[in-house]
Amino acid sequence: MSHTSESDSEIISDLSPDYEAVETLLSVGPADVEPARELTFARNVFLPLTTACRYTCTYCTYFDPPGEATLMSPAEIRDAVRIGVDAGCTEALFTFGDEPDKRYEKLYDQLNQWGHDSLHSYLREACEIALDEGLLPHSNPGDQTHEQMAAVADVNSSMGVMLETTADVDAHAGPRAKTPAQRCTTIRNAGELAIPFTTGILIGIGEGWRDRAESLLVLRELHERYGHIQEIIVQPVVKNERWRGETPDLQTLRRVTAMARYCLPDDVSVQVPPNLAPVRELLDCGIDDLGGVSPITDDYINPSYAWPAVEELREIAASADVPLSERLPVYDRYLPPSVRQLTESEESQSAPERTWVSPRICQAIASGHWNHQQ
Ligand code: SF4
Repeated sequence: MSHTSESDSEIISDLSPDYEAVETLLSVGPADVEPARELTFARNVFLPLTTACRYTCTYCTYFDPPGEATLMSPAEIRDAVRIGVDAGCTEALFTFGDEPDKRYEKLYDQLNQWGHDSLHSYLREACEIALDEGLLPHSNPGDQTHEQMAAVADVNSSMGVMLETTADVDAHAGPRAKTPAQRCTTIRNAGELAIPFTTGILIGIGEGWRDRAESLLVLRELHERYGHIQEIIVQPVVKNERWRGETPDLQTLRRVTAMARYCLPDDVSVQVPPNLAPVRELLDCGIDDLGGVSPITDDYINPSYAWPAVEELREIAASADVPLSERLPVYDRYLPPSVRQLTESEESQSAPERTWVSPRICQAIASGHWNHQQ
């Protein structure tokens, strides 16, 4: 299935920020933002549902070619989720490549044997396993059509895809190149479907400063239209066996993190992954979330970069003299008041205007094992 459509090609111009907004954002630095008053994180179990991907981004070690790609079985999913529950996790993080193309014949044969005609159909079963066992699914299946996303919306507490950049960069080139327009369409689809959403920008893949500013402003525009972006990840590309380019230096990360904080409304968190960036040296640039970390599984996207232990996150927060609190994979403001977790902030949060999470997710939150651990 082709992901490109006429509306895809129009979406970038529809979202394009004006020159003045870009210029203003380009002038922002760490001195222009306030450090956050608290830090949050989520505890997840990382489930690489499949490593098949239609694309071959040059910085990515996640994807495997046809014949080598893995597909987790229902039993493997259940086992991993149970281990996650025992370790106190709240989130089942399902990761993918982008929708595998026809070269991945074996994967589709296997899905057929399991009674599924698509990865999204299988994802639904995977999310149901996670919910049955007591974790909240957060799925990142790459680009998705409106129909694909709608098919799994009610069994996800939130979803995500990295915008990475609005620029056309060589790192995305190849016979099946992913495009910024497709990413924007996916993020827009999530907004239309009222799915709390995580996205972000990837730094150092060939984009320039103007591209970074434009990418952040496009994400702000999408959030202003739909209100669905719960957090923006500012992620540096890192050294690995496929990436031949440089990694961004600290000054670059400090400036772009501050730009993200300045650009986005206060209710959208700015997250920097603590296993990929020197977060202690970015805390004054407005980070307020340390993302999902797993006490039991690797970061399969960046396997050479171990998650910090929760104790290390506490030390990071202490070094900034701010409290650290654990959150769910869906931010509190998207939940009806009856199932919100962060009771101190409950009174200051108004009731959500749209219905963001399904009754099934609310039920899973209300009966979550974490409610009995405090
Ligand atoms: S970054 Fe995502 S889309 Fe690109 S090759 Fe890796 S898994 Fe596929």
